[in-house]
Amino acid sequence: MSGLPVIKSRKLEITYNIPISKTVRFWEGLKEGKILATKCRNCGKLHFPPAADCGQCLSSDMEWVELSGEGKLITYTHVIVRPKSFQEEQPYTVAIAELKEGVKVLAWLTDVKRKDIKIGMELKMVPKQLSDGRIAYVFKPLTTSA
Ligand SMILES: [Zn+2]
Repeated sequence: MSGLPVIKSRKLEITYNIPISKTVRFWEGLKEGKILATKCRNCGKLHFPPAADCGQCLSSDMEWVELSGEGKLITYTHVIVRPKSFQEEQPYTVAIAELKEGVKVLAWLTDVKRKDIKIGMELKMVPKQLSDGRIAYVFKPLTTSA
């Protein structure tokens, strides 16, 4: 299995696939502008999105670590699914980047023109408040972080 996950609807599930009860700290971190991951104290594996249990060694002994949020674009796709109820919505781009810390992250890519998107470009993860009040995270080009 490789390649970009298929995303069929506008409701990207990246904001839902984390059990809230064990990862409240993650959402609090986003509000503070921090990108947090969990790191297994037993085997050292880094998990993002944060996991309560280590998939590698099955330990539950995890600690929170802050990520730089900086990484390089590995792949991306433009999502141009526009059901009638979303006619006013713009097509959007979903990207996967590998962070300096070695984890791969799936998120929206914003603040860049399609023609300017290049594999390998440097990106920065930033928290973003969604229109419905939820907080998620998106990628932006590193150079435009002002
Ligand atoms: Zn582990």
